Amino acid sequence: VASELSRRRYELAAWEIFEVGKTWREADADVAEAIDFLRYYADEMDRLAQPMRLGNRPGELNQRSYEPRGVTAVIAPWNFPLAIPTGMISAALVTGNPVLFKPSERSPGLGTLLTDIFIEAGVPAGCLSCLPGGPGVGQALVAHPHVITVAFTGSKAVGLHILAEASRVDPGQPMVKRVIAEMGGKNAIIVDETADLDEAIAGVVASFAGYAGQKCSACSRVIVHRTVYDSFVSRLREAVLSLEVGNPLEPGTQVGPVIDARAQASIQRYIALGLEEGRLLAKQSADPSGYFVEPTVFTAIQPHHRLAREEIFGPILAVMKADNFADAVRLANGTEYALTGGVYSRSPANLAMAREQFDVGNLYLNRPITGALVSRQPFGGHRFSGVGAKTGGEDYLTQFMIARVISENTLRRGFESTQ
Ligand code: NAD
Repeated sequence: VASELSRRRYELAAWEIFEVGKTWREADADVAEAIDFLRYYADEMDRLAQPMRLGNRPGELNQRSYEPRGVTAVIAPWNFPLAIPTGMISAALVTGNPVLFKPSERSPGLGTLLTDIFIEAGVPAGCLSCLPGGPGVGQALVAHPHVITVAFTGSKAVGLHILAEASRVDPGQPMVKRVIAEMGGKNAIIVDETADLDEAIAGVVASFAGYAGQKCSACSRVIVHRTVYDSFVSRLREAVLSLEVGNPLEPGTQVGPVIDARAQASIQRYIALGLEEGRLLAKQSADPSGYFVEPTVFTAIQPHHRLAREEIFGPILAVMKADNFADAVRLANGTEYALTGGVYSRSPANLAMAREQFDVGNLYLNRPITGALVSRQPFGGHRFSGVGAKTGGEDYLTQFMIARVISENTLRRGFESTQ
């Protein structure tokens, strides 16, 4: 499958631009990440497929081996329409489970194309089916007594609903269901008084505006030390007003449209709210036709404001002011999510404090906070950002399997021939 995706890399990227409005660079990155997942999980299964001897006590052989759990439902979002489903599907298949895959109703074309590629590459008949459709299809899959594992990536609200539904046991159900849920974020970047502001501005803008803010890892809050606050926000304003917003078919476009009218309306409501809760710092203009949303930055946002707490999933950034680094970390940790976070600082003491106290699944120091790479940066959050092992990491595949341990007394007393 990886070879086929590589061979069709540019064609698939073009489909992403067409169906979900990614810019060229973002579209190519999604195809490349899908390929990385396939190669990584194949290698990981080679490692896990070997039964492992536990301990080395003479006269006793303890072996742990893994077996598939059973039918797996893969319920995917639209924002990484190849990489995320490829990761979940390939993990379930390579560990021996048949898969019922429901792509997002906002990216059914890419879901169908991906399924065809898996099947053409030789997935056995009946082991992978694509069921395009909306929430009702997802609900039916979660409720079915023979769906044993649910691999879900999407919003917190839907993830929590699936977790509750899957805990119900129906007559005829052979096993307790397991839900692996990757959910949302409200990610912050801290900029302290020692930060290189050239780097910080570029990193914050890339992290908040990339794919129009429609990444679970996107930066939606920036927390700035008061001594550099004024120079940071004036430079941030200029940077946001220089963003190229427009048609993703154009290679120079940095910010394309949001996914659909529903998302556009929801993000516009947050812009209206931001005007009440905070102060408008910058609003880049965008084509009023189509589903564009102007990249927008608000200052004077307080921790209790909705703009500081709720995932918006669009190009909206809230700026907050901190008195010192401990205060900044406290503000950063002040949401129910714990997905990604970042720090721009040249202070070893502050970086050390962030390592210890900034409570996120993926912490990035002096670099943008999006674009995690398979195996080098296993990805995923905790608290209300997710439950389960990190994707693209060494613990991920075992979630799709049961572990069995067999212990044998090898001090045989005599031997019976089978002849
Ligand atoms: P969503 O939760 O609306 O939908 C995700 C999937 O769930 C879709 O396929 C949808 O049809 C299905 N679904 C909806 N209601 C359902 C129900 N009641 N039962 C079963 N399935 C149901 O999310 P979305 O808009 O597609 O994606 C954006 C969200 O995904 C954001 O919150 C983002 O942060 C999150 N996300 C998280 C990660 C991560 O790795 N943590 C990655 C990408 C996206």
